Amino acid sequence: MSSDIHGGIQTDSHGEILGGPTLPQHRHLVTEIPGPISRALHERKTASVSGGVSVGLPAYIAAAGGGVVVDVDGNSLIDLAAGIAVTSVGNAAPKVAEGVARQVHQFTHTCFMVVPYGGYVEVCERLAELTPGSHAKKSVLLNSGAEAVENAVKIARVATGRDAVVVFDHAYHGRTNLTMAMTAKNAPYKNGFGPFAGEVYRAPMSYPFREPAPIKGAEAAERAITMIEKQVGAENLAAIVIEPIQGEGGFIVPAEGFLPALSEWCTKHGVVFIADEIQTGFCRTGDWFACENEGVVPDLITTAKGIAGGLPLAAVTGRAEIMDAVHPGGLGGTYGGNPVACAAALGAIETMKELDLAARARHIGQIMGRRLHELAERYPSIGEVRGRGAMMAIEVVKPGTITPDAELAGAVNRICHSEGVLTLTCGTFGNVFRFLPPLVIDDALLEEGLAVVEQAFAAAGAPTRRESAVVG
Ligand SMILES: *Cc1c(COP(=O)(O)O)cnc(C)c1O
Repeated sequence: MSSDIHGGIQTDSHGEILGGPTLPQHRHLVTEIPGPISRALHERKTASVSGGVSVGLPAYIAAAGGGVVVDVDGNSLIDLAAGIAVTSVGNAAPKVAEGVARQVHQFTHTCFMVVPYGGYVEVCERLAELTPGSHAKKSVLLNSGAEAVENAVKIARVATGRDAVVVFDHAYHGRTNLTMAMTAKNAPYKNGFGPFAGEVYRAPMSYPFREPAPIKGAEAAERAITMIEKQVGAENLAAIVIEPIQGEGGFIVPAEGFLPALSEWCTKHGVVFIADEIQTGFCRTGDWFACENEGVVPDLITTAKGIAGGLPLAAVTGRAEIMDAVHPGGLGGTYGGNPVACAAALGAIETMKELDLAARARHIGQIMGRRLHELAERYPSIGEVRGRGAMMAIEVVKPGTITPDAELAGAVNRICHSEGVLTLTCGTFGNVFRFLPPLVIDDALLEEGLAVVEQAFAAAGAPTRRESAVVG
């Protein structure tokens, strides 16, 4: 029964399983994608896993590392997804794997609230050092990004004695009840799942590509602030929660000045400014945290995804006086800050420092930026190239307009998959192609992955600039 789910595993001459960075770093297809073993597994998946859990590419994975994922049929795919910005240090990164292996043999769980252990404390110390600002900071560790966002809101409410929370158009903050209310997009995240939590208000985002007329960041912030003051009232507002670069919503980079203006307004009115850096954090955008780009110092910051090399861990980190406003016992959970996940985080953070993955992210950003701009030159269906560091995207539209073309984005995505490149789409309109490679991917593999994306635009029949000029 188990041999078929392990098919395609590669071993060295001693029979040791290859995984992590020891995997050959190449794109290599031996079957169609997905292959026969994956298809058989997918039939079992369909019979046993809730239909509510969908899969982007049903190629079942046997090993992964560096810039590749290897499926059970033996196909080696280029990874431009990193499990949605999670395996930034690479899959099965040596320091993560070693830390986990050591910890899992020592002890696996005590519940930090019952009897504590040092790993939890050490992760909180690292978070205090690495997050923006030199003020005294404290943290709480949790299991998922959504749980971190929920806790950040709980903490802000206790600290301010106020109820309201402001979020933005196109925001994504998770799938739990409170975070569904905070997430903007209905399908698939919210549809039919209500009623939603109250006291969540949505403000207009700065989305330069879709503004009817160019508007500066400070003006876009003023627009949001006016709405907040008129519809909510600062005296009722506990927190503003914002992704410094929006993730699922379409890799939307607000105009320069937007974030600092919001942050200053929050400070002036005693509102907690919460940066949701769950997708942007831990070197992804070329800094440890995306807020640093404009010198913004959030009161609270939520982290997850890239923090622990693939193990489930999340955190809320922030001003000590805000974090300590909560009564003893008010925060926690059975698994929050699990010792194995903490060991993984310490290994991942050490790897980020040692390999200077923030610099790697900037380098990846240069390669992606160059290639994606070339692509946009050729294909007028690409309305905009945007993002920062190793978090970049292209927005696909009908040529010469801002009308979203999700159909073309989907077609290109499927072609990339069948050619052995793992790509992702996102966006309120489903028309944004996002690139989130592991930060340890080598340059040649990244270039090859992007070349396949380029070929996929041609194969999908996207008109070139010349052709669309002829058509008019
Ligand atoms: C992924 C994500 C979340 C939710 O994290 P989960 O671990 O999936 O609960 C929240 N906010 C942002 C910005 C995210 O990208």
